[in-house]
Amino acid sequence: MGKIRLLTDEVASQVAAGEVVERPASVVKELVENSIDAGARRITVEFARGGGQLIRVTDDGAGMDREDAILCLERHATSKIRSAEDLSVVATMGFRGEALPSIASVSRFILATRSRDGETGTEIKIAGGKIESVSDCGVAPGTSIEVNSLFFNVPARKKFLRGEETEAAHIIYQMQSLAIAHPEVTMTLLREGRSIWKAGGTSDHGVRVVDLFGADYMRRLMVLEASEENGIKLEGYLSKPGEGRPDRDQQFVVLNRRVVQCPAVFRALREAYGDALPRGRQPLGVLRVSMDPLAFDCNVHPAKREVRLHRPELLKQAVYLAVRRMLESLNSSTRSAATETRVESPRPALATIPAMPHSSRSFERPPQMELPVSDLIIPDTPEERFQIIGPLGAHWIILEGKDGLVLLDVRAASERILFENLRREAASGNASSQNLLLPSLIDLAPKDAVWISENLEALRSTGFHLEPFGGDSFKVEAVPACLASSDVRNALLDVCLSLRSTGLMGSSQPVMDALIRSVSRFASSNGFQYGEQRARHLVNELLKCELPYACPQGRPTLIQWSFSELERKFGR
Ligand code: ADP
Ligand code: MG
Repeated sequence: MGKIRLLTDEVASQVAAGEVVERPASVVKELVENSIDAGARRITVEFARGGGQLIRVTDDGAGMDREDAILCLERHATSKIRSAEDLSVVATMGFRGEALPSIASVSRFILATRSRDGETGTEIKIAGGKIESVSDCGVAPGTSIEVNSLFFNVPARKKFLRGEETEAAHIIYQMQSLAIAHPEVTMTLLREGRSIWKAGGTSDHGVRVVDLFGADYMRRLMVLEASEENGIKLEGYLSKPGEGRPDRDQQFVVLNRRVVQCPAVFRALREAYGDALPRGRQPLGVLRVSMDPLAFDCNVHPAKREVRLHRPELLKQAVYLAVRRMLESLNSSTRSAATETRVESPRPALATIPAMPHSSRSFERPPQMELPVSDLIIPDTPEERFQIIGPLGAHWIILEGKDGLVLLDVRAASERILFENLRREAASGNASSQNLLLPSLIDLAPKDAVWISENLEALRSTGFHLEPFGGDSFKVEAVPACLASSDVRNALLDVCLSLRSTGLMGSSQPVMDALIRSVSRFASSNGFQYGEQRARHLVNELLKCELPYACPQGRPTLIQWSFSELERKFGR
């Protein structure tokens, strides 16, 4: 006898439910998106015991008449698309017609709904996918869906749920995402009957950010002015330099009204911040992207969390450039006018260094201080700012500043100086380069050779003069002046690695930055012979930099112990 059997409808729908209904937070997402699709202006979400006991979503949307209320519980019943072609341009949140039947098949489910012109409402009770009753009920126009005892009939799935606190945290995060993506809708979130937050509908995205995360959070962000290029519209609120978190929990990318996980955008964002954030930190905030729905596919993930872009590099580039512009505007404006955060600073560009953590709301993990340099204030007057005391070990120089003891990391400082000089030179088209006595022939692995030949232009503008020499070989005639005493082959391999890590070709800014970062890192690895003159030169050059406080990879260049801290330590 054959081994293959058809599953009963019941089992089949429970299997399908697993795709859409991973956990209570996914139920919340599906129900709230339905409410949004129904044109709701007001949505209330309640949950109890991590959502496992109860999830109730109530809206004032279009509601349904009795026929639709029964039909919507059938698999593949949707009012949103009719043909496969519609899929590519869906403007609604849902379109597969499988959420309601899936949820109803794994819970005790009550749907109460009334259309705007309906005389009376309909209530349908379902347990484990079986309709128990359909009756009239008195409800306001709109829809309320109650999901009780989620997974009560699928013990295997229930076992996979985490503790109540974890599931609650997922729901709260999910609701934050939905509220961020739909500021025009009033949303209320209640847990065990108590309100966690309420956000009034608004056309001002900034208001929504403050409602959800508080004014302290907003103070850590700056405005990304709206821009549009290649059909990609960008705007939002993103971290001020130095304001990051070790994870992306408070970074939201909204693509056409949907919070999405889009690695290309995540990477571009982080790269754009470069050394404006310490290593390992991610920017906070909300980036809104609007683009033609034909430019990506959102039908790739069961919960539509991920999207597939047809041209990811276009979006990546747009994000990178917009964020760089935003950060650079801060640099130039803070040079002429002190910002509200650091009015006491005699050198206003200090607003760009990591600020002390602001007090934060309870749901935010306390940010950690990474760079102890944050209170370091560099005086504006050039006269010798710091007194040089001498070298410390192989890597540091001891300085005395007005406010205390300062250690300078020689390598980090050299990298920063080289990076900014090279970037300036490359931008003006005259990067200084050093001819090699004899041209150097270098054979590369094929995958490295591709990156070099595709980025020849970028390499040239940083001072490399090289040309393909057949196969995977290159003839190097000159290198950036700062690499004059470095091993050419190793330098080129290092550059290659950095170029590959960008995933980009051509002479775009991210490529140039990666290239310059790698050259300055390599050039600074040669060591430093201490001498007072040299040390003074290094300090002066560093203080001339735009971002003197960290190397291009985000490591600190200067660390300070203030006199008051020293006094405390010595018990004075
Ligand atoms: P989809 O959203 O993919 O269409 P669902 O199973 O989530 O599939 O919903 C099925 C249908 O039920 C929707 O297309 C819509 O017509 C109707 N519906 C669901 N929720 C609501 C609601 N809150 N208000 C009005 N209609 C709803
Ligand atoms: Mg839906």
